[in-house]
Amino acid sequence: MRIPFMAGNWKMFKTKAEAKAFAEEFKGLYEGTDVETAICAPFTTLEVLVEEFGGTKIGVGAQNVHFADEGAYTGEISVGMLEEIGVDFCIVGHSERRQYFGETDETVNLKLKKLLTSSIRPIMCAGESLEQRDAGKLFDVVKGQLINGLEGISRDDMIKIVVAYEPIWAIGTGRTATPEQAGEMCAFIRNTLIEMYDEDVADQVIIQYGGSVKPANATEIMNMEEIDGALVGGASLKAKDFMEIIDF
Ligand code: PEP
Repeated sequence: MRIPFMAGNWKMFKTKAEAKAFAEEFKGLYEGTDVETAICAPFTTLEVLVEEFGGTKIGVGAQNVHFADEGAYTGEISVGMLEEIGVDFCIVGHSERRQYFGETDETVNLKLKKLLTSSIRPIMCAGESLEQRDAGKLFDVVKGQLINGLEGISRDDMIKIVVAYEPIWAIGTGRTATPEQAGEMCAFIRNTLIEMYDEDVADQVIIQYGGSVKPANATEIMNMEEIDGALVGGASLKAKDFMEIIDF
């Protein structure tokens, strides 16, 4: 059975002091909850969050990583550096990274493979643009991202990866996919994983929906059979809002 998993993506928001204040409030609200959760936060706040969430079930995630062990890659952070501070998750292939920072299916694949040599679980994002949806290419696009991004990844490693379906047109726009649209694509992703691996693997993979999830729409999205959780941007910045989503 898959346990629901809600991850927050803070993007480039919150200073260390703001992260600490959030954590102090959120810990209290979250106590006793069964739904699994993590906050994916800016690099500069990760250590504070790991410290604050120590002894709780709340995970901490990064939003990006480099695929090399070390080297002349100015501005980058390695998997080992994240592991050293106790990070649990790392987002890979977010559409903002693909759009503004040249992330490709090939770099997604390299990053996934590197993360899978560590204890850090990847949250791999996939999703189509509005043009691709309107042109009826949505399923081909997402399938391509899965086939190329997951190339060479074993069955055992696949079950450690969380897949987040994030239609680009619904991210930060206030325009949410309908529960049916989100559910249809998450079911398609699971079927693609059956084709690529098998039913046993596909059954174990957590598939999230992300795109303007908020307290008001979390229940109907989470009621869709193939949706196991959400990747939440804007609404994860306030502890009470994020907790309401977790409590869907
Ligand atoms: C995201 O950044 O992954 C996201 C889904 O953002 P938002 O919830 O703000 O649309």
